[in-house]
Amino acid sequence: MKKKKIYVLLSASTPGQMGGATEIEVTNCEKCGRRLNENLKQLGYEFDFWSGEDFIHLTPYYIVSERLKMALEVENLTGYSTKKVVVDTEEYFEIDEDAYSKTLPDFYYLDIQGQAKEEPVWYTVEKYDECDMCAGEVSTYIPEILDKIDRVVLFKKKEDLLAIPKRKIYYDSWQGQDVFFADNEKRREPIITEDFLRVLKKVNKDFMDEVIVLEAEWI
Ligand SMILES: [Zn+2]
Repeated sequence: MKKKKIYVLLSASTPGQMGGATEIEVTNCEKCGRRLNENLKQLGYEFDFWSGEDFIHLTPYYIVSERLKMALEVENLTGYSTKKVVVDTEEYFEIDEDAYSKTLPDFYYLDIQGQAKEEPVWYTVEKYDECDMCAGEVSTYIPEILDKIDRVVLFKKKEDLLAIPKRKIYYDSWQGQDVFFADNEKRREPIITEDFLRVLKKVNKDFMDEVIVLEAEWI
């Protein structure tokens, strides 16, 4: 069977910012205080404007509109569940006259559960053993690669994507999910399949300039 293409999600539209309803539970190591985990209990989003965007990036989360959520469900795409976003609006909030709805639809964030393993290309993986209570592996971005990603995401220079090496995902570790993290959630950029991207292009078609993806490869 032909292997599905996969892509790393780097960015999407940002018509607002994190809202006051956000609740994040942080777990620190009891011994050394190192931050171990962040658990999102509730996500709030504050819109400045809305032009009809169906797919929104709020680092490190991705938010989908009601109709995009439905389209993903109709195609039986897997690897995530959805949780409703608590939406509010900035004082001078406006809806563009070209938007497909005169009122804001409901939005949901993707709670990504899909997992696979990768041969690290963007990260160095090191043992953390300074504290015996939370010893383990830590992965850190390779600085030159992070610089290149920032240039593409912040300045929207998609041609610079070609200068970024492709992440390498072990095909045998993949469980068929359409959206997943590689190795652990600390590597924040999710990976999507071509099926996920196809639905995104269909529903969010007017805003695909804002969606930045980079092909990854199977090994
Ligand atoms: Zn510790």
